[in-house]
This record gives sequence, C-alpha cells and structure tokens, in this order.
Amino acid sequence: MTARILVVDDLLANVRLLEAKLTAEYFDVSTAMNGVDALETIQRTNPDIVLLDVMMPGMDGIEVCHRIKSNPATQHIPVIMVTALDQPEDRVRGLEAGADDFLTKPVNDLALFCRVKSLVRLKMLTDELRLRASENDKKLDMPVVGEFTESLTDCNILVVDDHGTLFERISSGTSNLHRLTKITDPQQAIFAATETQYDLAIVDLDMQTFDGLRLCSQLRSLERTRQIPILVIVDPDDSRKMLRALEMGVNDYLTRPIDQQELAARINTQLRRWRYTQKLRSHVSQTMELAVTDPLTGLFNRRHMETQISILVDNASNRGKSLSVLALDVDFFKSVNDTHGHDAGDAVLKELALRFKQNIRNVDLPCRVGGEEFMIILPETHQKIATKIAERLRRAVCSKPFVVPNQNKGLEITISIGLAALDGTNDTQEQLFKRADQALYDAKTQGRNKVIAYAA
Ligand code: GH3
Ligand code: MG
Ligand code: MG
Repeated sequence: MTARILVVDDLLANVRLLEAKLTAEYFDVSTAMNGVDALETIQRTNPDIVLLDVMMPGMDGIEVCHRIKSNPATQHIPVIMVTALDQPEDRVRGLEAGADDFLTKPVNDLALFCRVKSLVRLKMLTDELRLRASENDKKLDMPVVGEFTESLTDCNILVVDDHGTLFERISSGTSNLHRLTKITDPQQAIFAATETQYDLAIVDLDMQTFDGLRLCSQLRSLERTRQIPILVIVDPDDSRKMLRALEMGVNDYLTRPIDQQELAARINTQLRRWRYTQKLRSHVSQTMELAVTDPLTGLFNRRHMETQISILVDNASNRGKSLSVLALDVDFFKSVNDTHGHDAGDAVLKELALRFKQNIRNVDLPCRVGGEEFMIILPETHQKIATKIAERLRRAVCSKPFVVPNQNKGLEITISIGLAALDGTNDTQEQLFKRADQALYDAKTQGRNKVIAYAA
C-alpha cells in the first residue's frame, strides 16, 4: 500500500526524520515547515494523510487541523497530530479540532506505520465512495462541514468487557449522550452485533475470561459486522496485542490508564467518521437509484432497460433459457389528457405502474420507455406463460376504473400489449424489441385492449 503523506513540523530535523522513515516504506512524502505553507500544500497536492506537529510558531497545529476540517474540500483528509509526550491536553485539543489520531514524540516506528496504514485504508474507502457519488451526481451535494465535525448523540455503542469498570468510565465519559449496551460474553456480543445496528464497538483486550482479539477478528470477518468501527482498550506495555489489533483493521486504540476526555474525544471521532461514510453510502445508493428510475412512476427508465436487456439476452442465449418481452401502450391516452387534463393523465400513469408491479414477479423488469409506453422484460419465461401474464395485466387495467384526483367518476382505461419471445441463440435484442412492437401495432389495429403475440 502506498499513499501521499504530508509531514508538517517547524523543526527541520523532525521533518527529515519522518520523511526518511516513511520514504523507506515507499510512501510518497511531501513536507511543510509552517501552518500557512501546510494549508497551501494541501490545496495543491491533495495528500492522503497529514502528519501535523502541534507546537509551531505562528499558526499552530491545532489551528491548521481546525482549518483542514472546516473546509469541505479537505475535511475528509485524515490528520494525525504529533504531540510531545508531556502535553496530554494537546491530544484532547487536537481530537476536538477534528484530528483523526495522534502520535507522541519520539515517534515509535511500528505505531507510526500502523496508524498511517489504517488511516490510508479508511481514506481509500472514503475516496471510492466520494468518487462514485460524484460520478452519479455531477452537481455533487456532499454532506456539509457541520455534519462532519458536529458532536453526535443517540448512537448505539456496544461495550465488551468482563469486569465492568470500563463500562462505568465510558458511561460517565460520554455523559449519557449515547445508548450503551454492556456485554460480557463474546458469543453474545457477536450475536448482538449481527442483530442490532451498532455505530461503535469498544472491546477490552485485557479480559480475564476470553480473548478480545478473537472477538475483533470475528467482527471483522462477518459480513453483517465487518464495517462497524472498533475501538480497543489495551495495556500500554502490550504493543504486540495493539499491533495485531491494528493489523486486523481495528480503527483505534486507547491505552490504560484511560483519560476520560481522550476517551470521549476518540469515541466522537469514530462516530463522526462512521456517520460520514454512512451518509456517503446512502447518497451513492440514492443517486444510483435516481439514475435508473423514472421519477413519475418509479419504474425503471429506458436507459436502465437498455443496459439490462443486453445482459439478460446474453444470459438467456448462453444458458439456453427462455425470455419474453411485453410492449404495452395505453389506448387513446391522448383523449384522457384532452378530456380530464394532464394531471389526471399523470395519475393514470402512476396507478398503471402500480398495477403492473402488483401483477409481475420481483425478477421481472417493468420500464417506462416513453410517455404512455412501457416495456416489461420477463426473464426465464416462455411465450405461453408470457401470454398468460400479459392477459392478467390487460385485465388488471380494464377491470377496474382508475380513480384520479378531482374527478367524481373513475376513468375507464385499457391497454394494448404486444409480446415477443427470444428465438434461438442468434436472436438479438433489437430484433426482439422490433417483434414486440410489431405485435403491439397489430393489437392496436385489431381493435385495442388486446394481447397479441408475434407470429412469424
Ligand atoms: P393509441 O391508442 O393509438 O395509443 O392512442 P394514444 O392517444 O394513446 O396515442 P398517442 O401516441 O397519439 O398519444 C399519446 C399521448 O400521451 C400524447 C401525450 O399528450 C400523452 N403523454 C405522453 N407523456 C405523458 C405524460 O408524462 N403525462 C401525461 N399526462 N400525458 C402524457
Ligand atoms: Mg397510446
Ligand atoms: Mg403512444
């Protein structure tokens, strides 16, 4: 794994030392020696991680961090504060300014690489989500600054610990802002984590009765729990355990004795990041959904149908399976608009989509391909069955008047349906659609409110 890292420190010796260590591990390192220079370099080079000294003349590290985290263009870049060992309050101030992590001087190599790697992994994930979000939606509407840095409440936190003192510290450290669940048995913890959506798991690695590392690895390997942020509590002398935990993908650690403020700040950092990635994820899936659906009816749009049909035709041909398509068109729809208005017409189209969905399977693909024209793709369906389905759809429309707003009487609506089935391995989607359209045309000319299957 490689990444671009910006090292910021006012002492040349410190900059050179970190630069040498990171370059030896094949990271791509750039440097800055004051806050202003750092912010300018970030704008210009867009690093994956910033290693930031706290004490610097002029603008200090806390202020630099604060500015990175309040700029929407840079707030997703992880910041590791580098603090002096005898300044514990710097850690808390750094975390409160939005820092993702901190290291103490003199910097321990293993801790440095583990912290950097774990944050790089996280950054890659966020980048991927941001990229997908921006591909889906050019007018990208990212979660705003406040949403990223604000304190959160009402999160679900799972605490796994077998002696109870940790739980009490966490409850008082988070001043009852969150819902805490305490579990002492590891099997039960796994069960709980798959059943309930937790926002954070805090695991004590020094339990008497079982191995906390094993629990972390189980949480990371199960599909349902793989994404949950994990914060572990570890003995400061047990660097082996700490490193194993970080290798496993644990998000953060805290060493004993636990500093209440630091605990609260670290919990907040994890929750904030978690909420941010969740927001990105739902943004991505929402925009993906918007890209494939027709806004009026909620059915798939033409573009989606065109990408899906080629996949479905290929699949069916390769595996010798059947496939049918229906072309559906509302009869005399123009007169619905002319007589009752465009809004009534829209209401009919919506109700129509609903009736279609109620009469097909989940695997079928109902699409609105034009104004009052629809296509329904029926995978693994022979012509004979497709005819029955089409008949059912026709009846579902004509058998019950359509209730529309501001009309005291329901509207009688009928549809015509043309049907074609995939014919042999040399058949193409174009020919298939053409045959369905031809059959629809025949249904129209033969009197409408009919199902006609294409006949050679
Ligand atoms: P036919 O039985 O031959 O299909 O007759 P028709 O009137 O349904 O067909 P035609 O293609 O002549 O007219 C379709 C009408 O559908 C014209 C247009 O005003 C209307 N239309 C197209 N899109 C929409 C829409 O989104 N909302 C509404 N309300 N009407 C639409
Ligand atoms: Mg029509
Ligand atoms: Mg038409």
